[in-house]
Amino acid sequence: MSNKVHILIIEDEKSICNFIKAALQVQDYRISIAHTASEGLSIITSRCPDLVLLDLGLPDMDGSEIIRKVREWSSLPVIVISARTQEREKVQVLDLGADDYITKPFGSSELLARIRTALRHNNQLVTPNGGPSSCYKVGDLCIDFARRIVTLAGEEIHLTAVEYKLVSLLAKNAGRVVTHDAIMTQVWGPYVEEDNRILRVNMANIRRKIEKNPAEPQYIFTEIGIGYRMAEETN
Ligand code: CA
Repeated sequence: MSNKVHILIIEDEKSICNFIKAALQVQDYRISIAHTASEGLSIITSRCPDLVLLDLGLPDMDGSEIIRKVREWSSLPVIVISARTQEREKVQVLDLGADDYITKPFGSSELLARIRTALRHNNQLVTPNGGPSSCYKVGDLCIDFARRIVTLAGEEIHLTAVEYKLVSLLAKNAGRVVTHDAIMTQVWGPYVEEDNRILRVNMANIRRKIEKNPAEPQYIFTEIGIGYRMAEETN
């Protein structure tokens, strides 16, 4: 499954970009780089990365503006990277919805630890009894969010990156209806066309892969005219 974790670095200082890139490459992350805020926003909205490392001092816009815009439609983890050390500013970006904060200069092990933590939090399910879980399990279907692997009766199911995003989004909201618009925005970004065809096509492919009888789904249910609902976990 081409499911490497995709990290976007938004940073205008080339030397810091190179340092971060080198640290992430060793860990087998997929990396995109933007040197301006507008470039960064366009990558976020078109390619929906899994995590963003964000510098606050950007040439065209303050990085906090990016957090504000992204939080209007996404819970994508954002780690702020900045030279600013004032507590007030840290609180401000965290209040805006940043997941974490790392101050320059920092070492690669500190950076990688922060990334792992932010990804882990984002991958956690809240189970019916309130505790976090990193797996979704109903019947024969199992989704391991930490390893990004989907299995059916123990056999790995090969999903595309988009199919995995769809399934994991629904599983993290298991038992709840997720609307077409919410799915489209979370998976394809806020500027996606109104037409849901791309969603229906992907959903049909997913069902063919995970459902015994796609016409009578066991895992992902259609709420006609509204969206989809994934079966709730059973203990
Ligand atoms: Ca900067």
